[in-house]
Amino acid sequence: MLGRRGFLGAAASAAVVGFDPSSRVWVTEASAAPPSAPPFDRVPPLDGQLVVDDAAREAVATDLGNIVHRKPHAVLRPGSTRDIATVVRFCREHRLGVSTRGQGHTTHGQGLSNGVLIENKYLNRVHSLTPRTAVVDSGIKWMDLTKATYAQTPRTTPPTLTAYTGLSVGGTLSVGGIGGLVGGLNSGLQVDHVRELEVVTGTGDVERCSRTQKSDLFEAVLGGLGQCGVITKAALDLAPAKENARTYALEYGDTAAFCRDLRTLIDRQGVDHVYAELFPPGTTATYKLYATAFFDGPQPDNAAITRGLSATPQITDAGYLDYAFTIDNAIDELRATMGWDRLIKPWYDIWLPGSTLENYLAEVVPTLTPRDIGPYGAGLIYPQRRSLTTRPFPRLPRPDGTRWAFVLDINTVAEKAGPDPAFVEEMLARNARMFARARDAHGATLYPIGSVPFTARDWRLQYGDRWQAFQAAKRRYDPSGILTPGPAIFG
Ligand SMILES: Cc1cc2nc3c(=O)[nH]c(=O)nc-3n(C[C@H](O)[C@H](O)[C@H](O)COP(=O)(O)OP(=O)(O)OC[C@H]3O[C@@H](n4cnc5c(N)ncnc54)[C@H](O)[C@@H]3O)c2cc1C
Repeated sequence: MLGRRGFLGAAASAAVVGFDPSSRVWVTEASAAPPSAPPFDRVPPLDGQLVVDDAAREAVATDLGNIVHRKPHAVLRPGSTRDIATVVRFCREHRLGVSTRGQGHTTHGQGLSNGVLIENKYLNRVHSLTPRTAVVDSGIKWMDLTKATYAQTPRTTPPTLTAYTGLSVGGTLSVGGIGGLVGGLNSGLQVDHVRELEVVTGTGDVERCSRTQKSDLFEAVLGGLGQCGVITKAALDLAPAKENARTYALEYGDTAAFCRDLRTLIDRQGVDHVYAELFPPGTTATYKLYATAFFDGPQPDNAAITRGLSATPQITDAGYLDYAFTIDNAIDELRATMGWDRLIKPWYDIWLPGSTLENYLAEVVPTLTPRDIGPYGAGLIYPQRRSLTTRPFPRLPRPDGTRWAFVLDINTVAEKAGPDPAFVEEMLARNARMFARARDAHGATLYPIGSVPFTARDWRLQYGDRWQAFQAAKRRYDPSGILTPGPAIFG
């Protein structure tokens, strides 16, 4: 067996294209070539297309993380739910793994497949809109849905929006959907605002599910990382939208002062959203806190909102959509100027119980270096009011008697495009070490969008008292274990 140096050296000289976390080996161009292809000519006629050309397969062989490489045998560009059901049945018959790709923005191969990959962006219609509900194909991006709902009279919005809205509805409903710029204080996660789903299970059956109909399937697919079904359509709650957003930005060098003001603002009347950025020591501010109030006619009362805070706010106003798409614009800029999509992103994302935020920050922030975040990465903190979360997944920390849980992201972005096996190994080891400590000493759970290596034991601990129910749903709805092998939750 080669030692680590020899291993990396050998891999590097053979043109590494990525890492395979299940076999724990680096994938080279030669080893990435798939074995003989299944008999795709026997797939029944489709409304869309099943493509097998190399360019189409290579284009979906990695995700935003650029760490894991899995090239599928074929890519389904579905024209209908029926296509997905047909191809899932074919995969089951031929024992092929099958994964769904929304926008491919997870960072550790969660949605990749060596078998068939369903490119869900091809199913992206809005089927109906009312002031209270949107029925959509799951491949639609939140940005496109939000533009459509905001154009209604009266204006509406999804009650919770991720910071970046170029993500698919099916993708964020499969991970949870934290309110990056809208939601969290007065609404739940995106999974908490789903009325009904259409799902293709691992047997190729098309099912409808909700809180009252096939609720075990509903519970298993929302935040369920694609393990029990492909979400094809969703009926989603909508909420009234305001016209403007006023944001108060405050800077801190001190963890205690920052946390005090954060806790004040998340409970303050008139504040609709709060999040924070964190920076490695040595930068001008360690924390930047953003509180936003949405408004139509009367302006927010600045004095009331900022009363008693220990920093002086910078105040900016924006139209609602400009506010909601702030991060999209920033990412578009990075895409255009830095080749952001190709940079390596070993992201670390956890849920912390409400009571442990101060201690965790005091322990971790002083250890961060600029390399831990990188010039194009971000450290982020998002509060979520626990009473508004209703679904078993994603797994939040055990209740600790507080009303809040916090997501903490250390979204590392490398300075240069890869491959860079040494950097990846270093960062994956960092993430594994940090997560074990966060879980064991601070009661954290994983928000599974990033790049934290997980063993079978880690997954069982993650799901805790829901593990058996999740396993039962997997056996029932994906008895051949073909759906979404990426995270290797069930082996
Ligand atoms: C810039 C940026 C900002 C972000 N901000 C936030 C934020 O504010 N809040 C937040 O919660 N997250 C945030 N995320 C993380 C994001 O929610 C996840 O990466 C999400 O998975 C991305 O959606 P996607 O469409 O790219 O999904 P993908 O990465 O394509 O899929 C995610 C997982 O779900 C599975 N899947 C996808 N579609 C389906 C489907 N229809 N049915 C069943 N399984 C499916 C995939 O196989 C994969 O396992 C952010 C990510 C980025 C890059």
